[in-house]
Amino acid sequence: MKTISNCFIGCDKPVENSDLLIFGAPYDGTSSFRPGSRFAPDKIREASYGLETYSPDYNMDIEDLSIGDIGNVEFPFGVKDKVFEKIKNCTANLSKMNKKTLCLGGEHLITFPIIEVLNGAYDNLKLIHMDAHADMRDTYIGEKFSHATVLNNISELIGQENIYHYGIRSGTREEFNKIAKYNNLNIKHSELSEKIGDDPVYLTIDLDILDTSILPGTGTPEPGGFSFKELSELLFSFRGFNIVGADVVELAPDYDFTGASSIVAAKVVRNTLCTMLG
Ligand code: MN
Ligand code: MN
Repeated sequence: MKTISNCFIGCDKPVENSDLLIFGAPYDGTSSFRPGSRFAPDKIREASYGLETYSPDYNMDIEDLSIGDIGNVEFPFGVKDKVFEKIKNCTANLSKMNKKTLCLGGEHLITFPIIEVLNGAYDNLKLIHMDAHADMRDTYIGEKFSHATVLNNISELIGQENIYHYGIRSGTREEFNKIAKYNNLNIKHSELSEKIGDDPVYLTIDLDILDTSILPGTGTPEPGGFSFKELSELLFSFRGFNIVGADVVELAPDYDFTGASSIVAAKVVRNTLCTMLG
């Protein structure tokens, strides 16, 4: 399943020696506007070879860290229940071995089966959600499970009060009202630290949190977003949290013919790895 050329740069350690494992979930079955995130995991890996393994911001070299990359989960496309089952099996296997995970999406819905497993494995799981969109609809085009409802689905599992949102600038009035109820949007670091404490944390990064000028290669671009520096500083501020898993979702690489979106995504992944193990 894995060759050096298809692992994320510097993440070539064997499973048994790894503290953290990367896996790809190339599913985009509910993408409503512009599908194509199924091509993201391999494009992110490929683009990562344009980066250094050393991060001057973190003063860390991911080559020195114990990270492996087990390749992509294989999906029977079009059968959502089986896709969920495969993602759950993969997450459960790694979680049982006490490994942290970083999943390369895929569309945002892939976060749900991962959280289903981790919510069973950890008490008091907290979620930090970075996204342009609230993803808090009850249903979307009559469907309960979709990229546009995924945070609502997750809130039913772990409780909406345990979800902290950053970057949300698009959604319905109802979605914003739901978020406002817990006042967990763009909260300051000191308040976040207080709420999270030592509890296990999962980071879900929908790349459309970034401005469309930085990352046009995504399924539902939303202008008015974070600069790369703003997202990097936010991620950097999460160092020291007990982060047990993360995902980076919604790159749809083929909408950006320059290939730059994939490189942006790869650097977000590198920063996330440093945050998780720093
Ligand atoms: Mn999303
Ligand atoms: Mn989004």
